[in-house]
Amino acid sequence: MALSSEELAPLRAALLEWYRAHARDLPWRRTSDPYAIWISEVMLQQTRVETVIPYWQRFLERWPTVEALAAADPEDVGAAWSGLGYYRRARSMLEAAARIAARPDRAIPSEPEELADLPGFGRYTTGAVASIAFDRPVAAVDGNVSRVLARLAAIEGDVQKGAANRAVWDLATQLVMGEAPGDLNQALIELGATVCARRPDCGACPVKASCRARQRGLIEVIPPARARPTRKTERWTVLLLHDERRVVLAPRPEGERFSGLWCPPMLPDGERTPRSLSPKGQVTHILTHRELKADLMTGPIPKKRAANWKLVAFDELNAVAVPSFAIKCLAAGLPAHLLPPKLPGRKQPSLNRQAELPLNETGRSSQ
Ligand code: SF4
Repeated sequence: MALSSEELAPLRAALLEWYRAHARDLPWRRTSDPYAIWISEVMLQQTRVETVIPYWQRFLERWPTVEALAAADPEDVGAAWSGLGYYRRARSMLEAAARIAARPDRAIPSEPEELADLPGFGRYTTGAVASIAFDRPVAAVDGNVSRVLARLAAIEGDVQKGAANRAVWDLATQLVMGEAPGDLNQALIELGATVCARRPDCGACPVKASCRARQRGLIEVIPPARARPTRKTERWTVLLLHDERRVVLAPRPEGERFSGLWCPPMLPDGERTPRSLSPKGQVTHILTHRELKADLMTGPIPKKRAANWKLVAFDELNAVAVPSFAIKCLAAGLPAHLLPPKLPGRKQPSLNRQAELPLNETGRSSQ
């Protein structure tokens, strides 16, 4: 929905003024390094800000430049990512880093068209990096921003698709044309994350005077509540084979659940479990579109082992790319004294819980 220039100018001014006075002091907002900004944007997709901060800091210490990341061992990057979930993000990021490091200038491109060509750069990430790192007037609409804009302009319907989606992107594009496009985009992101939440705090909103949903009493229905994703159940038997020092991990096969990561050996439902193992309870783990149910079986490390299994010392688990599902199985099925206290994600009941959080509680919920 197009706004007139008379409407746009005060909206932009109010958003920028509010952002500069109220923005949270987040570490990636203290840098202008495009690489550091890019990494923050990848980590923030579907993941809470508080979760991301320590990961981002450790990641930048270990791989401070895009060239360092391009030369990194993917296993090490996977291990550093353990606990953040959505591992495809890390794989795309590595592919993009390799492509950037192969450029003549070895720099992240500033042109939005070139950014959009890199692996993992969807429309949101392209707009975020182009505007925040390079001051380009390109819109960046994540779930938070689409909620703010839909309310501001009283755009009804599902903002994830179709006409309503086009309308929020059009409005975001209108708004970002002007000074400080990076701050403008971040103002919208911040407003959606902190004020214009699903239950908005309109009294604290810098643009309440212009908000059509508020004027028309439509805040409760814009955007419409989304149906919870229907999840299929996937059943596994997970073998926790260990002694007092080590546990068996197996690489997950290409194209299967958690491919590229290490898990205790997993048998699909119905496959026969060795008789020597003892049942050790069940774990349920929620992903966006799947509910994983794992029957845990424990036993000693067998003498005959698959060639690709490896024995990992408990105190070295942090150096291996292990998904949170596996951490959960290990924590539920093994004696507590065996596991190091700081396993990634151990305090989180379900690391992919982020996918279920209301949009305002996540850093970015990309569209
Ligand atoms: Fe959101 Fe309320 Fe502000 Fe409208 S007035 S943009 S609903 S916080």
